[in-house]
Amino acid sequence: MFEPEILIIGAGPAGLTAAIYSSRNGHPTLILEKEVPGGQMAKTAFIENYPGFSQPVKGFDLIQEMETQARRFGAIIEQGEATALKVTSKGIELQTTIRTYTSKAVIIATGTQPRSLGLENETQFIGKGISYCAICDGPLFKDKEVAVVGGGDSALEEAEFLTRFCSRVHLIHRRDEFRAARVVQERVRANPKITLHLSQVIAKIIGKQNLESLELRDLKTGNSTILPVSGLFVYIGLVPNTGWCQGVIALDEQGFVITDEKLQTSLPSIFAAGDVRKKSVRQIATAVGDGALAAMTAHEFLVHSS
Ligand code: NAP
Repeated sequence: MFEPEILIIGAGPAGLTAAIYSSRNGHPTLILEKEVPGGQMAKTAFIENYPGFSQPVKGFDLIQEMETQARRFGAIIEQGEATALKVTSKGIELQTTIRTYTSKAVIIATGTQPRSLGLENETQFIGKGISYCAICDGPLFKDKEVAVVGGGDSALEEAEFLTRFCSRVHLIHRRDEFRAARVVQERVRANPKITLHLSQVIAKIIGKQNLESLELRDLKTGNSTILPVSGLFVYIGLVPNTGWCQGVIALDEQGFVITDEKLQTSLPSIFAAGDVRKKSVRQIATAVGDGALAAMTAHEFLVHSS
């Protein structure tokens, strides 16, 4: 059984970059992934701000290249979901849904998952109108009216993407100002298939078997309106995938991993990279930078501890 020296948890851009650097540095490297490589990036239709691509590149295509590159240097990818982590006299022991691994260093790159609205019947309508992934489910709403909720880069970019299929996209945001990049805001405002519902929140999700409409509440007037839609795409931010390492390494109040400037966590043999980390900018470019730095710091740690 392959025993890694560096175990990377999560095969998104941070994890795969860390794998490229650590395997290229000669460390037996294993990446654990609970689904398929890519993380949030594989669920992003087009990426237009990753350097080296003058034209928008599909998230899925870019992640496949990263995966191929990591494998080329000898990194191994196995499936499994991390469930518990502990430091023992033999090194770090990681339990997954499939087996237990030991390694000398671990890089946590488990990323984030979409935040849910927390409305009463939200989970009941998942797959019946409610989705957190436009690239996965957008084509199911061809020629239909859908809503997107959120005001960040994800909401606006995915609203724009959905206009490829949907007859109308209603963008619902709780403020008058978006926090998405200016260029995307300008495109969204100019898109004739997007209707803005600003200073509005979703008060109720309505439907029998499938989603039929949303009750919107205007935060300025207090008035309610009914918006008939077949789909709702939720893009209201991200929550870190760190439940499994709670109590082992230091996390902030929202659950993001706290690291120093070299990406070491509160435990010397454990490092973190990418969106899962407490940081101010979450971009593919910064995740890639994190992956490289975490792998170099893990390398230094292994050299000095051997
Ligand atoms: P985000 O930037 O955290 O934005 C979340 C949005 O959802 C905000 O507009 C927020 O409103 C709203 N919101 C939060 N909780 C809400 C609630 N309970 N009800 C209604 N609205 C709520 O999240 P994101 O767009 O998923 O982006 C996450 C990170 O990835 C960001 O750093 C982003 O820049 C990055 N990203 C980058 C790209 C790119 O560069 N191409 C693409 C996608 C994501 P307020 O504004 O009022 O707080």
